[in-house]
Amino acid sequence: CMGVTGRPAAGEDIAVARDIILSELTGCHLHVAHVSSARAVELIRQAKKRGSRVTTEVTAQHLYFTDDYLKGYEPVYKMAPPIRAEKDRQALIEGVLDGTIDAIITDHAPHANEEKDVPFCCAPNGIAGLETSLSSVLTMLYHTHRLSIDRIVELMSTNPARLLRVEGGILDAGKPADITVINPDYEWTVHGKDLYTKTLFTPYEGITLKGKAVLTLVDGQVVMKEGKVLK
Ligand SMILES: [Zn+2]
Repeated sequence: CMGVTGRPAAGEDIAVARDIILSELTGCHLHVAHVSSARAVELIRQAKKRGSRVTTEVTAQHLYFTDDYLKGYEPVYKMAPPIRAEKDRQALIEGVLDGTIDAIITDHAPHANEEKDVPFCCAPNGIAGLETSLSSVLTMLYHTHRLSIDRIVELMSTNPARLLRVEGGILDAGKPADITVINPDYEWTVHGKDLYTKTLFTPYEGITLKGKAVLTLVDGQVVMKEGKVLK
């Protein structure tokens, strides 16, 4: 007990089980957003084995952090769903590796400093995930030899595009030139003050990550080069 209202994994597990049952009843595609518990991953794995129309995704930060980080009551680690136990984090990684989890996402939810810099109980959920998610995934899963770059591109680009039914994630003539160039060996230490997001808080503060997006094109135009956003 930490003196704050908990959000036990049982709540997520029950909701996911219910929604899978309803999806199977109606034949509707179910996408489970931000899966975070070991049992929910297992429920989705079994549903997929039965041929159910279920997809899911996980945030980069749920693959990196555990509830150990919550012990200091720092609002920077407050997100929804909450970061859970190490066994949940391991199950999420397993779900990514075996294809149960279709995509890894940023869940970019920045808050202004004055909103987030309040006692834990009052702080809003969510962190700025955009500028750290790729680096986090490369550090956690590529440099530990668990995922290839090709697989990471699938999980973070091609599959999300397919799930959202938007063009993109494909390099081909006539397709949108929305391109990210990655340097997988670029090491950098994260400091919230250096990020472009409106929040100075990041759970990765002071953490050294390996791998970074070094160039971004949107519709054929270079919009970011070596960490600098261009007008
Ligand atoms: Zn979200």
